[in-house]
Amino acid sequence: LTDSADLAAIAAARDPHETTIFDARPRLAGSVAGGQRIEMRNPATGDHVGNVLPASTPDVETALARAQIWEASAMERAAILRRAADLYEAEFGPIFALLAREAGKSLADAVAELREAVDFLRYYADQGESLTGAPRGLFTCISPWNFPLAIFTGQIAAALAAGNAVLAKPAEQTPLIATLAVDLLHRAGVPATALQLLPGDGPTVGAALTRDPRVNGVCFTGSTETALLIRKSMADHLDPTAPLIAETGGLNAMLVDSTALPEQAVRDILAASFQSAGQRCSALRCLYVQEDIADHLLEMLSGAMDELTLGNPWHLATDIGPVIDAEAQADIRAYIAAARAEGRVVKELTAPEGGTFIAPTVIRVSGIAQMTREIFGPVLHVVPFKASEIDAVIDAVNATGYGLTFGLHTRIDDRVQRIIERLHVGNTYVNRNQIGAVVGSQPFGGEGLSGTGPKAGGPDYLARFSVQYQPAAPETSTA
Ligand code: NAD
Repeated sequence: LTDSADLAAIAAARDPHETTIFDARPRLAGSVAGGQRIEMRNPATGDHVGNVLPASTPDVETALARAQIWEASAMERAAILRRAADLYEAEFGPIFALLAREAGKSLADAVAELREAVDFLRYYADQGESLTGAPRGLFTCISPWNFPLAIFTGQIAAALAAGNAVLAKPAEQTPLIATLAVDLLHRAGVPATALQLLPGDGPTVGAALTRDPRVNGVCFTGSTETALLIRKSMADHLDPTAPLIAETGGLNAMLVDSTALPEQAVRDILAASFQSAGQRCSALRCLYVQEDIADHLLEMLSGAMDELTLGNPWHLATDIGPVIDAEAQADIRAYIAAARAEGRVVKELTAPEGGTFIAPTVIRVSGIAQMTREIFGPVLHVVPFKASEIDAVIDAVNATGYGLTFGLHTRIDDRVQRIIERLHVGNTYVNRNQIGAVVGSQPFGGEGLSGTGPKAGGPDYLARFSVQYQPAAPETSTA
């Protein structure tokens, strides 16, 4: 699937779902009440992609009341998850169409995302078979829009493989692909009571699904701010031993010293900063480049940026699609405008007309401390440093409190060792692209404000989905 000839064949065939209007609605083991219908639009074109009927408060209650632990042997569960993986692969057409049309993913990103989702299903199926005697219960899985298939599926697959029942709440921006995925999981044989889907917004549907005492654990991927809110609402209502497995944001840096191979560094900087329009938690945000090579490297980077093609994600030539929606676009544009007003923008491409595009941009900063929040788009910050400042650079990175990814380009082995010992981040990439998880071989997860661990796609992850199921006492009213 990753072969460029296959990609060309897919693109040449045009989007066979170009005129399909998709439908998202709660998938409950009971009747659906629903809320106010919402239209979903393609971020690149503004075209109508589908309609969503979000879950209402009565739907949340139905889901909580009807949820049942998946009563099947570990082998049976694994077989069904593997069947779901096969169905995902067979249904690549509508999956690619929705990843492009609902989430703005380029075709290459969509292919990689489907691969990751399928890998999660098979990996956790295998692991679930050897997880014997784990306590089981009801898990709420809350996911972000930036990997609306892979992360959504990975959370659900892990919770189900461990034998739990799941209430899945996808991001507001991507309910269509979530509905398609849940339908495939049901078709594969996951019972309707073991997996229910509740599209809806975070503050109402999401919050209700984390604070209810019938929920035994929460698996969350999204921003650090939301994780902290969920932690609070769980503390108010849940058993203190109930797990919160959270993967959150980052302020990721890369250090390129003067022994680095510039062509390789530039290739990796470009991919790590701008691929997926910078909308990856693992993306490079702040580049530290040794001052004696800084001008040369930034000139090469600028030339490489000029080769990037922005546009409709369905076109094979497109490297960079839009950001997720107008709100994200306005926020990032305002951020870039403020930096421009201060004369700190050192390189800026031109965004296509129409659609929620942000042109890849490079901004000068004095250090990572100047970046007070994660800018979730194709914006790279650069800082020159001197060889004598390496320890101070690492201390500044640690001082952000985040600890997701770090990139390092150097040929000095001792330096690699020293930096890794000093750094507090989950994943460090040496002389290679600073990407996220590779299921089964590169487990992924952060430290500090970036996540609770254990790492997704790794050997310890599933054990965390073992929860002590305690039927909730009925609420007593004093009214
Ligand atoms: P977000 O936190 O805004 O939303 C994530 C999910 O939480 C959504 O489904 C949302 O509806 C829900 N939510 C919002 N408020 C809630 C509440 N009060 N209670 C319960 N649920 C609530 O994040 P986003 O914008 O969808 O995603 C981007 C963020 O995700 C970035 O910060 C990115 O770094 C992070 N992320 C991290 C990883 C990782 O593995 N560490 C992976 C992908 C994305």
